[in-house]
This record gives sequence, C-alpha cells and structure tokens, in this order.
Amino acid sequence: MLIVMKADATDEDVAHVVRVVTELGYKAHTLPGANRTAIGVTGNQGAVDATRFETLPGVAEAIRVTKPYKLISLDLKPEKTIVRVGDAAIGGDELALIAGPCAIESRAQAFAIAETVRRSGARFFRGGAYKPRTSPYAFQGLGEEGLRILADVREAYGLKIVTEALDEHGVDLVERYGDVLQLGARNMQNFSLLRRAGRSPLPVLLKRGLAATLDEWLLAAEYIMAEGNYNVILCERGIRTFAQHTRNTLDLAAIPAVRRVSHLPVVIDPSHGTGKNYMVTPLARAGVATGADGLIIEVHDQPERALSDGAQALTLAEYEQLVSEVRAIHEVIAPAPVG
Ligand code: PEP
Ligand code: MN
Repeated sequence: MLIVMKADATDEDVAHVVRVVTELGYKAHTLPGANRTAIGVTGNQGAVDATRFETLPGVAEAIRVTKPYKLISLDLKPEKTIVRVGDAAIGGDELALIAGPCAIESRAQAFAIAETVRRSGARFFRGGAYKPRTSPYAFQGLGEEGLRILADVREAYGLKIVTEALDEHGVDLVERYGDVLQLGARNMQNFSLLRRAGRSPLPVLLKRGLAATLDEWLLAAEYIMAEGNYNVILCERGIRTFAQHTRNTLDLAAIPAVRRVSHLPVVIDPSHGTGKNYMVTPLARAGVATGADGLIIEVHDQPERALSDGAQALTLAEYEQLVSEVRAIHEVIAPAPVG
C-alpha cells in the first residue's frame, strides 16, 4: 500500500496517518518528495484496505502496490534519491567517484593511493579490510587494522570511506570506522546481513549478485529499506555469463532498467565488471555515458604487487587519465536522463 498525501497536507496530517498505520500493526515509511509526501506501508501479509486511509485528513489517495517492491519504486518517490555522505553525495548533479585499492594492504599503500585519489577530486575512497575471497588461502584482508588505516585516510585527506562488511559483526566495525557500508556481490542475498544494514545509520552500497536478476537485486535493496534505511546506492559490477574474454559481463543496460522503476542512485564498477586493466577505462566511459551516478574504480600504486585483483587495478597515472575522460563525458550528458 502506498499512501500519497496532498501537496498541502500538514506535518500533523502525515503524523496522523503514520499513527494509524502503526496501530494496525504495519510499518510506515515516510518519504517526502518535491511536491508531496508519500508513505509506504509494509509489514502486511495480505492486502490492506485502502478505504481505512482515504478518508484521513491530508490523504490524496491510497494505492495498492502490485509489484513485489514498494520502497525502491518511483511510485513511492518520483524524484531521484540523492544519498548524502557528509558534504559529499551520490545521485546528485556531480559524478561520484569512488576509488582505491581492492584491499587495504598497508598504511603506505593506502596513503600512496589516497593521495592521488584526493588530487583527482574524488570524494570517496574505497578499500576492503574484509575480503570475500574464493579461496580460503587467499589474502583475507587486514581486518580491523585495515579499518583503522581507512579512518586515518579519512582524517588525512577528507575522503569518505566506502568499505565492505562480510557479516553482521563486520557491520558494527564498519559503522565505527567508515562512511558507506559496502555489501558485496556474494552477499547480495544474505538476508540477515541486509536487514542488519537496514538498521545501520550508514548509507549502503549494494552490489549486484554474481547471477542476480534485476528484480532480485531490487528486492535486496528493498530488504534494507524495509528496515528503515533509505540511503541505498545500487552498484552494477558485472554478472556471470558464458563470455570468457572478461571476468564478468558488465550489464550497462542495468542503468536505464533501474532508472525506469527506481529512484535509487546507480554506480558502475568496471573493475570487477571486466576484471581486466585495459578494459576498465573504456567501460567506465561507457558507464558514465549511460547515465551512471558514479563509478567505483580499483587503483593500485603497484598493481603487479597487489594482494588481490591486481589484474584489474589501474595504475595511478591510468586512473588520473580515466578521471579526466569521464569528467568530460559527464559534462556532455549531465544531468543524467531519467526514464
Ligand atoms: C570489491 O569491491 O572488492 C569486491 C569484492 O566486489 P564484488 O563484491 O563486486 O565482487
Ligand atoms: Mn576487488
């Protein structure tokens, strides 16, 4: 159920509707928009009787939602969501650049990369302290020590920290040290983790699963939002196909497909999306041209020595070149087309 308030509805009208929804045992999600406030109703097993709400003061209409998702949808919120992270944002007019190594390996490595990332004008620094590796014998990340290094990078360069948690305990730690909680492709349908992220004060960057359909990905975002965290950023990072010339197949069509149904911002990860250094910049350019709200790029000061994902890491110079190219493209196409 979606309750659309009249343009002139008062705060008290909205609060009254929320009270009625809550008293019925449902959860109310109030999303103010440019022209009207909408209240999403979740927690109901069957259909909710619309007439209960239609006569309340300030209510324009109560609409039954037949799609599986409610809160991610443009029906609830026709304007694009801008996820604000301090004085930075993802989903606004500015192209969001999130760059850094796959994994934090040492203080010297993180600072060497962060220096260039800051100079490029990016507002976000990425780097994993907990790595979801295919092999249990591969480098698993520095753990909390990695998070401490990330917090020091934030302090030194003013960059916002985007970093992954693999489990609920990891979310506690990322909340202590980071700014944006990354949930990885392998965890996209870890429902208890999604719910925990939904109770976090941090925005969540939700990567698309290795073999997830658009609906499965959007419903994963819905899990987070259903708990009350509306600051979700979707990240297309490639899906597994029969193609062997890339690590994953970057699905750029996901951008207009998401835009058609959702207000959430979408960023593109051409690093995991291709797995190959020489493909990252061309696909980053394409992602921006397709209307992505941002890019997440793996960069390393010594890619040949990287402890994870070296083959897809850009050198510092390659990264700087990428930034100048994608900025030029963004200027031509901004504001990103909707619909
Ligand atoms: C990463 O960003 O380093 C990562 C592990 O990504 P994904 O979950 O997309 O594989
Ligand atoms: Mn990686």
